[in-house]
Amino acid sequence: MFTVLNPATEEPIAELEQAGVEETDEAVARAKAAFPAWRTVAPGDRARLLRRLATLVEEHTEELARIESRNVGKPISGARGEIGMVAQVFHYYAGAIDKHFGETIPVAGGVAATFREPLGVVGLIVPWNFPANIASWKLGPALACGNTVVLKPAELTPLSALRLAELCLEAGIPEGVVNVLVGKGSIVGQRLIEHPDVAKIAFTGSTEVGRLVMQGAAGTIKRVTLELGGKSANVIFEDADLERAAASAPYSVFDNAGQDCCARSRILVQKSVYDRFLELLIEATKGIKVGDPADDATEMGPLISAAHRETVASFVDGEPLFRGDAPDSPGFWFPCTIVEATNDDRIAREEVFGPVAAVIPFEDEADAIRIANDTPYGLSGSIWTRDGARALRMARAIEAGVLSVNANTSVRVSTPFGGFKQSGFGRELGMHALEGYSEIKSVFISTES
Ligand code: NDP
Repeated sequence: MFTVLNPATEEPIAELEQAGVEETDEAVARAKAAFPAWRTVAPGDRARLLRRLATLVEEHTEELARIESRNVGKPISGARGEIGMVAQVFHYYAGAIDKHFGETIPVAGGVAATFREPLGVVGLIVPWNFPANIASWKLGPALACGNTVVLKPAELTPLSALRLAELCLEAGIPEGVVNVLVGKGSIVGQRLIEHPDVAKIAFTGSTEVGRLVMQGAAGTIKRVTLELGGKSANVIFEDADLERAAASAPYSVFDNAGQDCCARSRILVQKSVYDRFLELLIEATKGIKVGDPADDATEMGPLISAAHRETVASFVDGEPLFRGDAPDSPGFWFPCTIVEATNDDRIAREEVFGPVAAVIPFEDEADAIRIANDTPYGLSGSIWTRDGARALRMARAIEAGVLSVNANTSVRVSTPFGGFKQSGFGRELGMHALEGYSEIKSVFISTES
């Protein structure tokens, strides 16, 4: 048994049994047994089931958002938005099922056709920062393609996944198609990675564990998609709308208390507007409402755990440029913090995963590109400028999978999401995600008589 805590109060909110290797093997066996029937469900019927799941999630938005808010310490308003996205993801993939086409290819002596075949049993390993959201990004395309799944939520945040599994059954998705296992990554996750009957692992989490996933998958040549860490740059040029850029920048680092792989945690500012931008940034950061996640007005809650708070704190030595307020009541609180840095400092090189922003000055466009790309990561980033050609030059030059111009958004249901470099590979969301959950089969049909 283990205890699930509310990070905003440190109070227990659930006691759960932990799965081990035996339970993992049983879940994989259930998923394997359910696969032949699930893959042959007519596309229209599979779409109806996913659409019903989407509708059920919509109907349970408040309940799911409260579960997520209590388990992760997320502000309730943000949690509602995230559950809204879960429903949209299932709607999207319900609609995608009969639009995932094969091809016919002209060849000598006949015709070659391609088919998109499901992989089989897919292991989904997800983190604690956006538990329901990230689970849906994997569940949606996996089920749409006709796979069955074993989903392992993070041990700290299993509650929304358990509720989602109940809703899958209520929607009419057959038993065994969606299996949720609560247990440790080093045991359940590891077993999924090595299990000969698991065809693919879809993983979101740290780059360190991503490496272990790749290593473990080698034994059975498992398919792997990895969505890993980030150290994204928010690049502010002197010709940008500074007020708008500064008003938006704090939310791009401090949302979800900075526990976001897309956090723009390196704010690169052109030297000519550095002082002015800093002033505006600090002013905007002062406005962030930190406190009780259950309050509709709250914008930032606590960190996920005491251990994680220690890690985050270890990144801040010396006096920061700005330190906000945080409750001194129980809970894993950490204030919004802004520090000045060079790109060689630890704060600019490693993923903090907390509400700490590093501000780094740059000279010109070439300098901005050099600094933005001087990182092992390549997930996300932003470019703020009124010069359209420069925006495009920068967008092409930055080595990252998801960029925005004059905005700080990364994730949309219909657009591909994923990293360059050590931020991983494979794409989630949009039609691109379907490629990670299906194999292409080429069939030649002779037309010779
Ligand atoms: P992890 O990478 O350890 O956890 C992500 C998932 O992987 C969890 O479900 C975890 O299970 C599982 N896992 C852990 N070890 C293994 C293993 N050996 N084999 C298989 N699965 C495993 O992230 P942490 O929670 O430790 O966070 C550490 C850092 O990682 C953060 O500070 C942040 O920098 C980064 N991170 C990035 C995320 C992103 O969205 N890209 C998300 C989360 C973290 P369990 O926790 O139950 O043991």
